[in-house]
Amino acid sequence: MATTVVLGGNFAGLASALETRRHLGNTDDRIIVISRAENFLFVPSLIWVPFREREIEDISFPVGPILESHGIEFIHAEGTRIDPEASVVHTTKGDFEFDYLVIATGPELDWSIPGTGPHAHSHYIGTPPDALATRAAFERFVDNPGPVVIGATQRAGCMGAAYEFLFNFEYHLHKHGIRDKVELTWITPEPFLGHFGIGGLPGGETLLKAFTNHLHIRTVTDVEVDHVDSEQVVLADGTTLPSAFTMLMPPFLGQKVVRDSPGMGNAKGYVPVEDTYQHKNYPHIFAAGIAIDVPVPFATPVAVGVPKTGYPADEAGKTVGENIAHLIKSDARLRERPFTKIPGLCVMDAGHKEVVILANHLIGPRDFAVMLPDPLFDEGKRLFEKYFLWKTRHGYSALP
Ligand SMILES: Cc1cc2nc3c(=O)[nH]c(=O)nc-3n(C[C@H](O)[C@H](O)[C@H](O)COP(=O)(O)OP(=O)(O)OC[C@H]3O[C@@H](n4cnc5c(N)ncnc54)[C@H](O)[C@@H]3O)c2cc1C
Repeated sequence: MATTVVLGGNFAGLASALETRRHLGNTDDRIIVISRAENFLFVPSLIWVPFREREIEDISFPVGPILESHGIEFIHAEGTRIDPEASVVHTTKGDFEFDYLVIATGPELDWSIPGTGPHAHSHYIGTPPDALATRAAFERFVDNPGPVVIGATQRAGCMGAAYEFLFNFEYHLHKHGIRDKVELTWITPEPFLGHFGIGGLPGGETLLKAFTNHLHIRTVTDVEVDHVDSEQVVLADGTTLPSAFTMLMPPFLGQKVVRDSPGMGNAKGYVPVEDTYQHKNYPHIFAAGIAIDVPVPFATPVAVGVPKTGYPADEAGKTVGENIAHLIKSDARLRERPFTKIPGLCVMDAGHKEVVILANHLIGPRDFAVMLPDPLFDEGKRLFEKYFLWKTRHGYSALP
């Protein structure tokens, strides 16, 4: 009987645990998910929370019952340290020995650029409390509008969400009848609009230029932020952008549990993995989702990060589950699915429109890639959200 411990219970962790069980069948092997969050959270819909288009309850639900109905134990706790030699993970609810471990702990936020972060002068939308605080700030702003700066800092990798927030913000300025009172500026470390940290997509720059021109949004690329204060964003070249409301996507780091575990991660706390998602030095330890190290494969004048989005997180989790089940069954044929070769599939909401991103590989070289306005107008991401929440509630991890 083998014990598999999965740290983290959202996209990558859930897929890893459910797929390990699916490939093993009803054996005595234990699978234990340990997560700091009691709920599954559909993170992509947080962009709508500041505008009251979604409440947190609409996009989250307890993960324990789903796992337990599939023969997986759930522990609501935080992993604090991993000892790879002893095969033990230390948590706030005791120590757990494992035969196989999956690290699926997602990102920690890097607020080291002075003045950035919800505790300082810029808002953030990627966690429930921060999205709700952004809502409160937006509602105060509506009564007292001024210039706005939205974007991403140097080294950020999740630019798509910031673009979504930009276009939703613009749309809601119209809805509140204050668009003409707001000078809206988009700042980004990307060398051109639509680079997204993946080297861009055919048609992407043209489309985003057309959108931003049409909506009278000023754009500044190659941006490095020096600092943010309560009334302005100051760039490294000395440019000062007045701002009464600032939302900036920060760079991500790997979680503290990895950074506190010698030998587990690189300097940023990301786990170096093989194409099988096995740790480069510990083949009984796997990682998936944002937790893995994906070196940036190109140079840009200002550093950008690679986006590790939901689809590849789910796909990598599936590969991990399949591979752990193979190892438990003493079958050495492990599946290789390099992260950069996973297809790019994404719907980017743009307020009352959408853009669809399709690429056979997330990062080039690619045989096929396109970025197009969605013929479904603005329903694609909403339909996807409903589908993903349904699939997750039922634990149908084999579905795409
Ligand atoms: C605002 C926003 C919008 C986005 N929009 C999109 C989109 O439209 N499409 C898309 O594909 N992707 C989108 N993404 C990216 C997507 O959310 C991520 O790819 C996905 O959440 C990654 O899954 P993950 O399982 O690796 O990490 P997470 O979803 O972050 O899950 C990590 C889990 O681990 C838990 N955890 C952390 N540390 C510990 C610990 N020490 N011990 C135990 N548990 C721990 C956390 O509580 C969490 O439950 C968006 C991201 C953001 C921030």
